[in-house]
Amino acid sequence: MPIQILPPDLAAKIAAGEVIERPASVVKELVENAIDAEATSIRIATSQGGRRTISVADNGSGIPADQVPTAFARHATSKLASVEDLYRVRTLGFRGEALASIASVSRMALSTRAGDEPVGTSILFEGGEMVRVGPVARNRGTEVTVENLFYNTPARLKFLRTDTTESGHVARLISSYSLAFPERRFELYSNDRLVSKTTGTGQMRDVVLALYGLDVAEQMLDVPENTYQRDGVAVWGMIGSPSLHRANRRDVIFFVNHRWIQDTALAYAVTQAYHTLLPQGRHPLVILNISLPPEEVDVNIHPTKQEVRFREQGAVFAAVQWAVRSTLMSQRPVPAAELPGRSSASWTRPHGHGEAPLYPGQAQMALDVQRTGDLPASQQTAAPLFVVQPRPTERLPMLRIVGQIAQTYIIAEGPGGLYLIDQHAAHERIRYEALQEERAANQVPTQQLLTPPILELSPQQSTLLQDHLEALTAFGFDVTLFGHNAFLVKAVPVGLPSDLIPVAISEVLDAATEGGADFSWADQALMTVACHTAVRAGQTLSPVEMRDLVQQLEHTSLPHTCPHGRPTMIHVSQAQLERYFSRT
Ligand code: ADP
Ligand code: MG
Repeated sequence: MPIQILPPDLAAKIAAGEVIERPASVVKELVENAIDAEATSIRIATSQGGRRTISVADNGSGIPADQVPTAFARHATSKLASVEDLYRVRTLGFRGEALASIASVSRMALSTRAGDEPVGTSILFEGGEMVRVGPVARNRGTEVTVENLFYNTPARLKFLRTDTTESGHVARLISSYSLAFPERRFELYSNDRLVSKTTGTGQMRDVVLALYGLDVAEQMLDVPENTYQRDGVAVWGMIGSPSLHRANRRDVIFFVNHRWIQDTALAYAVTQAYHTLLPQGRHPLVILNISLPPEEVDVNIHPTKQEVRFREQGAVFAAVQWAVRSTLMSQRPVPAAELPGRSSASWTRPHGHGEAPLYPGQAQMALDVQRTGDLPASQQTAAPLFVVQPRPTERLPMLRIVGQIAQTYIIAEGPGGLYLIDQHAAHERIRYEALQEERAANQVPTQQLLTPPILELSPQQSTLLQDHLEALTAFGFDVTLFGHNAFLVKAVPVGLPSDLIPVAISEVLDAATEGGADFSWADQALMTVACHTAVRAGQTLSPVEMRDLVQQLEHTSLPHTCPHGRPTMIHVSQAQLERYFSRT
């Protein structure tokens, strides 16, 4: 379809929006254009987080010479022709606004050659004005370079975060597109340094390997394409086994007809499917494609096209939940002896810690699985009546302290061999769970400060803090506004050293600024306070202190990892020791 300017009535039906708010929004629009042009190889490069330059080069269809200037007009698109098209959008773009919007806030150059034309075209815009256009020799495809983004809109410029944060947004975006389009090659550079690169094999697992590394890739379970298919809705992709979990929901990723979307309801469907399999407050790694007929989903509701509306929201929710749950069930079967009803032993904690289920609600999970009769008939045969095997026992055996090395690690001996414990990570876990309980009981102990420090913040941080003072109060802070963008810290959680007060508060604010829609103040405050009230590495501990610490760790529910997911200990078994010393 040639590029044409949409008639006013159609243009008016399109959810309008200022879509360009940061470098990542520019990258998003340009990469979507490359994908719509059926490029198989896309190279993205930014410098200074994208504020200096952003370039996106593709080997796609290119733009015919006579249509190049039109592409920069508002509402100029080759992707929609009629109002009906708007209800069955198959491309990522459809508004015809991106090139125009980006050109108006930057210095923007585009060079392109359509496959069937002998020469290409190059065009340059400054602040929305065309500066020149002419022929150029180049390969088939398109390259767009955006310089000095927002140079003529200082207010917008001011809202940009640090280069690192902006590059982070770009990297996350490219990761998502790489996962959504495993058959295309993506290469991302930041300040001339390679950030990520995928090979375009078409296998999602290869993309996961390239982006997350071998350790994660090995713990991902396939959700094959035939897992859920019903009424034109299909769900497939990869999900992390329960041993893999994160502090936030950033790695719960959905694509609807290859479009990366944010959807809290679907995220909740996933949370429910993992219910009781993950530690409290932790989130799985989930990458799911949802495909459905384009007319079943409205992509025209949000300026950034990152939210969509399903005609049958309930059906999509159920499909996602079913796909995740059945994958978890079928890929981690347990021996028949552990099926509920046959043996109650598997429901109790090992080491005689009472009769409580190993994971609260696990019995519920088993029942849910047995209710698969509610599922569509086509799915029933695939549903095994297995219970997911919980991870190996979370409890620690009794440990005997041997000593401390490097003022950082505690050496201990247990029935299973040698344990090396990271004192900071271990104490963080202890503090985290203690704070969780204190918080639940509404009694986080606080200490009043004799000379309350004054915290000076940037205007944005100040607004953020004023809006969320309560979240901090719940964790033992008493902070009040004290003049212009200044705050008085009158009390802090017990144990927080005074020199770390500003660090702790700004850590929470930074995380809030960078966090996504699912950022949790409570969660972040909890982690920050746990971290800064825990013993540090480099601190000498007496034998009594070490014993106390290890004993407290024995009583936590997840002694093996700190709240950030780092291991708290390394275990070397007796057998391993014997192997190391060639005794066997
Ligand atoms: P939209 O993508 O919504 O159509 P844009 O402003 O992003 O609007 O782009 C306008 C038009 O320019 C597109 O419809 C497409 O025809 C053309 N175009 C933009 N980028 C490319 C590209 N990388 N390769 C081929 N054509 C492109
Ligand atoms: Mg576009």
